Amino acid sequence: MDTNDGVAATGDAAPDSPATATSGVPEFVEVPEAVQAPLPVAELHLHIEGTLEPELIFALAERNGIQLPYADLDELRSRYEFTDLQSFLDLYYANMAVLRTEQDFADMTRAYLSRAALAGVRHAEIMLDPQAHLSRGVALETCVNGVASVLAVSEQEFGISTLLIAAFLRDLSEDSALEVLEKLLAMDAPIAGIGLDSAEVGNPPAKFERLFARAKDAGLHRIAHAGEEGPPSYIIDALEILDVERIDHGIRCMEDPELVERLVNELMPLTVCPLSNVRLRAVDTLNEHPLPAMLAAGLNVSVNSDDPAYFGGYVDDNFAQLRSVIGLSEFDCVRMAANSIRSSFASDERKAELLAELAASGH
Ligand SMILES: [Zn+2]
Repeated sequence: MDTNDGVAATGDAAPDSPATATSGVPEFVEVPEAVQAPLPVAELHLHIEGTLEPELIFALAERNGIQLPYADLDELRSRYEFTDLQSFLDLYYANMAVLRTEQDFADMTRAYLSRAALAGVRHAEIMLDPQAHLSRGVALETCVNGVASVLAVSEQEFGISTLLIAAFLRDLSEDSALEVLEKLLAMDAPIAGIGLDSAEVGNPPAKFERLFARAKDAGLHRIAHAGEEGPPSYIIDALEILDVERIDHGIRCMEDPELVERLVNELMPLTVCPLSNVRLRAVDTLNEHPLPAMLAAGLNVSVNSDDPAYFGGYVDDNFAQLRSVIGLSEFDCVRMAANSIRSSFASDERKAELLAELAASGH
């Protein structure tokens, strides 16, 4: 999927600015010629299943002898017009049917890392939804080992340090989540933390109090989607009941000034996904996105791609659209890149290395 169409419109760049023409930066943004490499960032909100591009879906279907309900790539792509979170989730889960073997999960992960490296991602904390695969008869070891085998060589092969996060589907029961978490712990799965995703409204954080307590006992990091479609109270409950260290999305905090003040004071990271919010109609257009107001309020926000194969692009595409559509300043872009690195669960040493890289990047 070429998501750069209409975004990095560099084809008409003035002939005397060849550096700009090849940089992927829209020509109307004034940047020094030396700035060519993408902003070095940490990607903190990424679902590996959401990186499954249409071409890979067809390739895996063929390899596994699976008949897809779409005649061709165009028919599949025509389904990518979503009306809300649920309409996306329906297609998202349907497409996962092509993931059967460890090799499938490994190929998907490799494709993401390869694309993310071009996007400037230098550290990635990647969510995997084990329950979405267990329910299709795919073993826990198959999905975990498939993804983890590639993450293990990511730093050497792609220059991207990584952590794996097991995310739980909030529309399923807490007992189901607890059962899977115990299995992950028993098999010594290489997970750094747990997350909470899928259909938010009607599945409040309190439903998973025991799961998050268990994860904390086990020494795991804790994050949760909250305040994407759900109300600001879900963000408060994720902080107070689940004791999370980061909020995924969190954009609806802006409806509650007291909550904003608290999030600012606590430096709570919010992993914002602008293109996702537009595609899933959490906001109508990018121009109406609360990100500039969130920055002005002093919130600790970063830019992430969520499910890039479905939402119109990777981290660099998100930054490119924020620059060109909203006119986000280079200062704010660098500030969010620094936020992403500081808000990661990487070691202090790795964070220092990446912050130094950011400072030296010329951005
Ligand atoms: Zn998400």
